[in-house]
Amino acid sequence: MNKFSRPSRFNTVIDHECVERVKQFVLVSQRIVITCHVSPDGDALGSSTALCSVLRALGKDAVVVTADCPPKALQFLPGVRDIVPLTRDENRAIELVEGADLIFCLDFNDLNRLDRLAPVVGGASARRVVIDHHLSPVIEADVIISHPEVSSTSALLYLFLWQAYWVKYLSRSSAACIYTGMMTDTGNFSYNSNDSDLYLIVHDLMRKGIDKDNLYKLVMDTSSETSLRIIGYAQYKMQILREHKVALLTLGSSELKEFGYSKGDTEGLVNRPLAIPEVTWSVFMREDSPTLVKVSMRSKGDFSVSRICEECFGGGGHANAAGGEFNGSLNEAISRFLEILPNYDKYLS
Ligand code: 5GP
Ligand code: MN
Repeated sequence: MNKFSRPSRFNTVIDHECVERVKQFVLVSQRIVITCHVSPDGDALGSSTALCSVLRALGKDAVVVTADCPPKALQFLPGVRDIVPLTRDENRAIELVEGADLIFCLDFNDLNRLDRLAPVVGGASARRVVIDHHLSPVIEADVIISHPEVSSTSALLYLFLWQAYWVKYLSRSSAACIYTGMMTDTGNFSYNSNDSDLYLIVHDLMRKGIDKDNLYKLVMDTSSETSLRIIGYAQYKMQILREHKVALLTLGSSELKEFGYSKGDTEGLVNRPLAIPEVTWSVFMREDSPTLVKVSMRSKGDFSVSRICEECFGGGGHANAAGGEFNGSLNEAISRFLEILPNYDKYLS
């Protein structure tokens, strides 16, 4: 029995038949792989590690396999050290995916988001279940639980566990993982967070014993010196194109090198310009190599950056938080950006 009574909508977010099918898949499977998108964030890692722990509590051989290594800042999350990243242990990662009878795909809607792991998961014979909150999934699976109206995959996973009567298998550690995902995908409950049900979930997680204040400190308010300096520097040289209501942040490869940048150091930077009332959207371009620029975008209100990332940078994401890539140098990426910019003025209200 679930310990707390919850509104009936808690039982109806996910189609009942989907929940039953997934439960059935789990019950008949033994080797279960969970995977999430490349450059995994708090939501991807939080939902994956929490589900892994629940499946282990159910007696399954569950493991999280990712395309690349989790960022240093999230290494403290329970279960993250057990993850098998393809970039670190290629043979084992492939062996686990190929040997699985069930694969959970969490927090992504397109196999391409698995990077070099995509062909391995795509070619595996296992049944596939997707649990995700990105718009318009283009992934094939036996069951797709896709709810873009839910602010994080972690919250959606909690609702799945609730509907499956599996909340009892959630330990304090995995509750902390779910909380981390909910917190990071809502900017510590500062956007996409006007849904009162979220706080019922938070209540349940706190009853499991999580220290939410400490999780905030560890995840949202802990930074390396390099990160603070590089984020400050990028904001110092930020350009604001007022007629387009956009802020542009850029970091070239020589600047990254000079600061001693490592992965994760620019986390959160792209959100900063939205603090300026005149700025509706914000773009951050990071020159990861002479031929590859990572693009991140954020926006306010109805202005959709996922459309721009999709149309111009081969990416996607959510209406207010999206990303993509540009094959070329930073200067070329900036030129491309300035060229497409006027096309989107009509969507500014
Ligand atoms: P971030 O800017 O934090 O890297 O990503 C913001 C959002 O956009 C996330 O939901 C992420 O999944 C999505 N996203 C980031 N980069 C890409 C990309 O290259 N392709 C797609 N399809 N989505 C991306
Ligand atoms: Mn997410």
